[in-house]
Amino acid sequence: MVVGVLALQGSFNEHIAALKRLGVKGVEVRKPEQLQNVSSLIIPGGESTTMAKLAELHNLFPALREFVQLGKPVWGTCAGLIFLANKATGQKTGGQELIGGLDCTVHRNFFGSQIQSFETELPIPQIVAKEGGPPSFRAVFIRAPAILDVGPDVEVLADIPLSAVENINSNNAIQKEEESSESEKKVIVAVKQGNLLATAFHPELTADTRWHSYFLKMVPEIGEGTSAIISTPTTD
Ligand code: GLN
Repeated sequence: MVVGVLALQGSFNEHIAALKRLGVKGVEVRKPEQLQNVSSLIIPGGESTTMAKLAELHNLFPALREFVQLGKPVWGTCAGLIFLANKATGQKTGGQELIGGLDCTVHRNFFGSQIQSFETELPIPQIVAKEGGPPSFRAVFIRAPAILDVGPDVEVLADIPLSAVENINSNNAIQKEEESSESEKKVIVAVKQGNLLATAFHPELTADTRWHSYFLKMVPEIGEGTSAIISTPTTD
């Protein structure tokens, strides 16, 4: 069994390359029957409306929903997160179809349009506990969504204080915050619910494979055997 990567649109090649760096074969999934040959699935970032239209065209929704309901490991990044959410809000939502399963509400374009894309050092304590490495992750947000609320079974893996988002500076980096007060509002950008993992950012666009390694540990036949590769971040 290999890891499937939904290859309708978006950054599927980058996910396959990241898996390869960890010695795992990722295969492109475009048809419902191909889901029977994979034990887990990554849904890449891209544009969720386009992805939904293509998924509809290829009659993929019933098979994708069944895959999620069977409890197979699925990781959605950015548009993939939107796809997995039970509910999506925000501009241009237009009633697009979702796979659902992840008990949360996602705002599709929470961080704004393409020019409001940014990178930031995101604290990731639960990932570090499993994967080691530096305490934060260089997270790339591109027309990124955010999670507005989560159900009781959803574990929050990363969030960003709203005040920090407002402070995105001219270098497109989030300024370091003073110790945040108890009442400070945050938006959630990474979650886990059972075998579903979702990130609002794009780990496949960095050299740090800790999120891929974390996901692979959820895949039964790969499991704890995966070790992350953490190389110097590619910031140009
Ligand atoms: N906000 C985009 C959407 O609605 C997702 C952006 C991304 O995947 N980088 O599809």
